[in-house]
Amino acid sequence: MDNCIFCKIIKGDVPCIKIYEDDNFLAFMDIYPVAKGHALLIPKKHVEWMQDCDDDTISKSFVLTKKLMSQFKNNLSCDFVQIGVVGEQVPHFHIHIIPQKNNHLLPRWPIISYDTPDEIIEYAKKIQGHIE
Ligand code: AMP
Ligand code: ZN
Repeated sequence: MDNCIFCKIIKGDVPCIKIYEDDNFLAFMDIYPVAKGHALLIPKKHVEWMQDCDDDTISKSFVLTKKLMSQFKNNLSCDFVQIGVVGEQVPHFHIHIIPQKNNHLLPRWPIISYDTPDEIIEYAKKIQGHIE
């Protein structure tokens, strides 16, 4: 993807501070960290959304994330390691890896209410399906 900032990082056209690299994956420091140590893991293959990646890429992404989380927990002064998948800003699947201290989490997502007691069931029915 010509306009993808993460593809440019993979190609070396945009600099980054690497923490891990192999043939298929790259992890680097987030340029706008929400905590000291905030990093991103990306597959080198450009796919926008996690749900559109092939299973092998997803499996390997999370195994690598697990290994990086241990490294964060063992080497940074954090209480736990938060991970997240957002993708609102950069259209190249990535996993945020964020060392966190107890009680230092970002404000929780605001809680909403369903309009009626049945609406939560309607939403559940829309989501329910057959997972092969
Ligand atoms: P989102 O797509 O909402 O998951 O957020 C994209 C993340 O990528 C944000 O945390 C940005 O700070 C980070 N980001 C964007 N451009 C760069 C860059 N050139 N180097 C490192 N991190 C970046
Ligand atoms: Zn890309």
